[in-house]
Amino acid sequence: MNLHIKDTFNTELPADPILENNRRQVKEACFSFVTPKKTSKPEMIHVSPEMLSALGMSEAEAKSEAFLNVFTGNTVLANTNPYAMCYGGHQFGNWAGQLGDGRAINLAEVAHQGKRWAMQLKGSGETPYSRTADGLAVLRSSVREYLCSEAMHHLGVPSTRALSLALSGDKVMRDVLYDGNPAYEKGAIVSRIAPTFLRFGNFEILAAQGDVKTLKTLVDYTIKHFFSHLGQPSKETYLAFFNEVVNLNLDMVVHWQRVGFVHGVMNTDNTSILGLTIDYGPYGWLEGFDFGWTPNTTDREFKRYKFGTQAEIIQWNLYKLANALYPLIEEASGLETILAAYGKKYMIKYNDMMRTKLGLFQENEADALLIKDLEKILHLTETDMSIFFRNLSQFGAKKVSNGLEIIADAFYVPSEITKIIEKEWEKWFEAYASRLKLETVSYEERKQSMNQVNPKYVLRNYMAQLAIDAADKGDYGVIEELFDLLKKPYEEQLEHKKWFAKRPDWARNKVGCSMLSCSS
Ligand code: AMP
Ligand code: MG
Repeated sequence: MNLHIKDTFNTELPADPILENNRRQVKEACFSFVTPKKTSKPEMIHVSPEMLSALGMSEAEAKSEAFLNVFTGNTVLANTNPYAMCYGGHQFGNWAGQLGDGRAINLAEVAHQGKRWAMQLKGSGETPYSRTADGLAVLRSSVREYLCSEAMHHLGVPSTRALSLALSGDKVMRDVLYDGNPAYEKGAIVSRIAPTFLRFGNFEILAAQGDVKTLKTLVDYTIKHFFSHLGQPSKETYLAFFNEVVNLNLDMVVHWQRVGFVHGVMNTDNTSILGLTIDYGPYGWLEGFDFGWTPNTTDREFKRYKFGTQAEIIQWNLYKLANALYPLIEEASGLETILAAYGKKYMIKYNDMMRTKLGLFQENEADALLIKDLEKILHLTETDMSIFFRNLSQFGAKKVSNGLEIIADAFYVPSEITKIIEKEWEKWFEAYASRLKLETVSYEERKQSMNQVNPKYVLRNYMAQLAIDAADKGDYGVIEELFDLLKKPYEEQLEHKKWFAKRPDWARNKVGCSMLSCSS
């Protein structure tokens, strides 16, 4: 295969000396060598043309036997040494010790057009980090990761990418509802791609082990390859590095709030050092705008990872990263100053982002209140976030006489719009209208700019489920349709307008649509 392999992670960092593939605690190492499991009857379902060309491969290559074999784990690319990364993590607020790539195997790194890409298979068998699980992945979770990670990229949200989605041909046992009813499902493998898959947990595990030497090696490696503009390693560089990680993750979470994405499991082992959305598990998209919503059934009780607290959780995770970096800096004040600035920085970025959603170009002191008021009213009745903001760009059009008219489609239960709620909306639209008067851009310009930040199409939870249900029956048409639709989420695409609609009623309480378990 025509790939320009340029490995760094497994050539520059310390490896676990043990080569056997048994579960173990790994020390003084960043990874363990491991070979993907052979699959019995692999079948390629879909390949991302964008990712293919980013890696320097052709469409013809993607159709080859060699491609199928490499990206389902049956062949190891020449001159490569696949490996699983060692990391730990704080899960739901508690230190969980060693976790690591339990079912992800890094194949190699590719250099193409000035970019570096690490390629991973997710679901290709056991590793030393598989703990009590099987290292496999099922079709439903693989379809969700494949479609969503590429869709996020096209929405302009920093994310890991996906190259391919394949069936393994093997059966995988899962208990979806954790209710003692396990069943066999189709096994699948996603090849996912990112400049690096390093997470906060890779640094935390070394700090937890008191292994400052390996920690320094890993941090220096990370700076050299991904933050090289920061210069040579020093305490100042480490602080600057931390500051950049803060900014990258902050930007990411502002994007999540912009598009209505809820990650669902923002543990530190799922927080990328590059601020990429990583590890698509029980994630979900807001239908009704609701700060209290989480798709993750495991988190139903405490809702730690709900929509409204994602920014705080990122900050919490950053504290954990700061603790992990502390042994290299040995001075808390610099880290503390950066962390202390987070809340204010976030509010500024969040309000800037919300202004763009509202089509406000200028800054005005009263905007924060206008935004707060809107958030409050959006919670009064179930109001579809995507439809609301998309339709809002019609406010001010000549034929539109009032705001409620244009957002009517966003309400799930129109009969819930009482006179009182109607009044609230009217009041808000009045404030919005007078705020718009301070702007100098034309209606058309405003509409255009709003439509570039308020997506018309997102991967609603039920849409992914429809793709999964069809795929399970061997029909990959919905995957293809959604993949293409979500490449242009901001465009009108009138031929696809059936996807610009509220969640249908059947999906309200259906497993996979409104609630998802971590079982995958
Ligand atoms: P997650 O909640 O998906 O981020 O996973 C947490 C940890 O569990 C990671 O170390 C994963 O690699 C591991 N893991 C999740 N599912 C499996 C599986 N089926 N087999 C092995 N390890 C797994
Ligand atoms: Mg994970």
